[in-house]
Amino acid sequence: MTPGTSQPVRVRFAPSPTGYLHVGGLRTALYNYLFAKHHNGKFILRIEDTDQSRKVEGAVENLISTLSWAGIPYDEGIDRPGDFGPYVQSERLDLYRRHAEELIRFGKAYYCFCTPERLEEVRKKQIAAKLQTSYDRHCRNLDKDNVESLLAAGENHVVRMKVPLDGELSFEDEIRGIVTIAYQVLDDQVLLKSDGFPTYHLAVVVDDHHMQITHVIRGEEWLPSTPKHILLFRSFGWETPVFAHLPLLLNPDKSKLSKRQGDVAVEEYRAKGYLREALVNFVAFLGWNPGDEREIFSLEELVREFSLERVGKSGAVFNVEKLNWLNFEHLRRKSDVDILSMLREYLAASEFAATQFDDAYLLSVISAMRDRVSFVREFVEKSPYFFKPPIEYDPTVVKKRWKSETPELLRRLIGEFSSLGNPAKEDFEAALHRTAEASKVGNGEIIHAVRLAVSGIGTGPGLYDILFLLGKEESIRRIAAAIHTLG
Ligand code: GLU
Repeated sequence: MTPGTSQPVRVRFAPSPTGYLHVGGLRTALYNYLFAKHHNGKFILRIEDTDQSRKVEGAVENLISTLSWAGIPYDEGIDRPGDFGPYVQSERLDLYRRHAEELIRFGKAYYCFCTPERLEEVRKKQIAAKLQTSYDRHCRNLDKDNVESLLAAGENHVVRMKVPLDGELSFEDEIRGIVTIAYQVLDDQVLLKSDGFPTYHLAVVVDDHHMQITHVIRGEEWLPSTPKHILLFRSFGWETPVFAHLPLLLNPDKSKLSKRQGDVAVEEYRAKGYLREALVNFVAFLGWNPGDEREIFSLEELVREFSLERVGKSGAVFNVEKLNWLNFEHLRRKSDVDILSMLREYLAASEFAATQFDDAYLLSVISAMRDRVSFVREFVEKSPYFFKPPIEYDPTVVKKRWKSETPELLRRLIGEFSSLGNPAKEDFEAALHRTAEASKVGNGEIIHAVRLAVSGIGTGPGLYDILFLLGKEESIRRIAAAIHTLG
């Protein structure tokens, strides 16, 4: 339970299936989930598909699988039936119609028979007169008999909400405080369309009531609709849920977060190899903070700490640098074995799908590289030489490290390596030192050239770690190949 309601907490994420899951949608889902779990309540997934023209094939399945990838489970939804289903609006049309008729009986709504042509006329006149465009309430006061005969004649009609002509409506938003709006600015909103489908406004209120939603937590873009919803709740004589409108998501230049400036689909971040833990942690901070310096949170910690009181009003900037940093931090917190299974998954979809690597080998690669990568794919991108021999050598490193005497030094090194039996890391090191000493050069003369020969590049983990990981035979093969190629 929570202040503001006397019932157990029930919240919902109510996306329209229009395609991908927007990061803003993920934030709404996450905040609802965190709020529900913090209060031992229920989190519901409701599909709002009343606008059939915007419906996209496969969008619902995609939503469900993306939420499941993100690790945000819901208690009730299409595939998790509860007591308040169906959880898809297009399967609840009767309910909306019944309630629309009820509102007409209460005198809170009315039939409107205006044709699209007439409405267009009205609109044009209002525009020409520089007035705000809205329905001119032509059918608001039709007499009862007239309405009856038009209905009997099967005239096309919609149902409109009867907004009071004066006065104002106030409500308290958990995040924004008191919001007041004059009824005059509200249109006589269509509630039921001529095709029998409800508009979003009617469906959302009917469902929030019947699904016993206690808190409506959603993006700020819905704030202008909220007075209409509250008016509807009151018209039905239903208890109004608590409202909380989350701040806008902004690009770093403070414009509204848009597809043009970067990725907004959760699916994109998933495909790029971001960890769910990092993305969830990142999204949690888009509007909320714990009130202190801590930044790395697991989902369980977020559930424990989340509260609407700590959600701010001002827009939240979407900063990819921070997301990358969080990915690094969350990857660092994974065990080698967890990383192994992610690396295997990555390899299975890569050019190395058919190459055999045993677990012990991959685990060694992981421990050598794990402090140097922010993404699982970087194990391969930053150290491809652990997965295949170099096919080329970084020219700037060649210029700096490959001298005329290098081939001869490396030939001697190969000789030393060959005589080693089952060498440990230290044995490679000692063999290299012996070669340098016998050749009267510093160790560095050989170390950098060997690194180049076995990896093709000039940076990476310790050379002896690399040699040990590759093993004696492979190291010798690669050094010989470099002598052959670079001369
Ligand atoms: N169906 C709306 C959407 O697509 C939901 C708005 C609400 O949560 O009331 O975001």
